[in-house]
Amino acid sequence: MSRIGIIGGSGLYKMEGIKMVKQVSVDTPFGKPSDELTIGKLEGKEVVFLPRHSMGHRISPSKINYRANIYAMKKLGVERVISVTACGSLKKEIKPLDFVVVNQFVDRTNQAREMTFFDNSIVAHISFAHPVCEELSSLLFRTGYGLGKKFKFKIHKGGTYINMEGPAFSTLAESNLYRRWGMDVIGMTNMSEAKLAREAEICYSTLAAVTDFDCWHPQHETITIDMVIRNLQRNIENAKRILGSAIKNLSLDRTCSCKDALKYAIITDRKLIPAKIKKDLGIIIGKYVK
Ligand SMILES: [Zn+2]
Repeated sequence: MSRIGIIGGSGLYKMEGIKMVKQVSVDTPFGKPSDELTIGKLEGKEVVFLPRHSMGHRISPSKINYRANIYAMKKLGVERVISVTACGSLKKEIKPLDFVVVNQFVDRTNQAREMTFFDNSIVAHISFAHPVCEELSSLLFRTGYGLGKKFKFKIHKGGTYINMEGPAFSTLAESNLYRRWGMDVIGMTNMSEAKLAREAEICYSTLAAVTDFDCWHPQHETITIDMVIRNLQRNIENAKRILGSAIKNLSLDRTCSCKDALKYAIITDRKLIPAKIKKDLGIIIGKYVK
């Protein structure tokens, strides 16, 4: 069983195209995921959909149970996760309604959110120099590039996503600082997911939809929440097009290195790993720890 996970961000709370839908409630050793997960078929492939902030958008970025969300995906047989996420742009050439297939992250959270499965009696250091799945990301870009010509949107290959804490947006000084650092887009959620997905040996890619310029841009003052929401809706329509087409063309066999991310990462003496941890993390570490 190899399924494709979709995590929907702001504006994407359900995927209408999914057929033979089943809603499942999943328990994990880390608590409950953001919402029930939807299992069904999209373009002939098995997919699992989860709204990151829950239906009705009730969970703030700081309070999302990222571990439960990724663990639930793993438990349901997901091997690849495509994240759709709204973001602000920090560069003038990345405009509202554009997409960015993110390839790097910088962490500016307050580190309070749980971003690892390995913080209790077992230690693992995954390689995270290249935090997204190259194979999946390049498929998303190629697909978006083709569709962008037809539906009049632009997609950027690669870009650095600075993960701020939120929920308030940046100050002007922060926004200008991130620009000087060379950051491309800003959001509040995706880095935590990328780390956990890598630990769980799940391929992860971010399709970032630009809703607006962050506050550094002179145009920012004249933007109303209405305009942002209208942009978000157009973004989501295009994101669904990209998702459908990418999933249709996705081969089920993985040739990337994500599937072996833990192979040399677990450093703890196997004899000292408690039975409860082996059981709780079994679906993630079972290949390496008996
Ligand atoms: Zn991969």
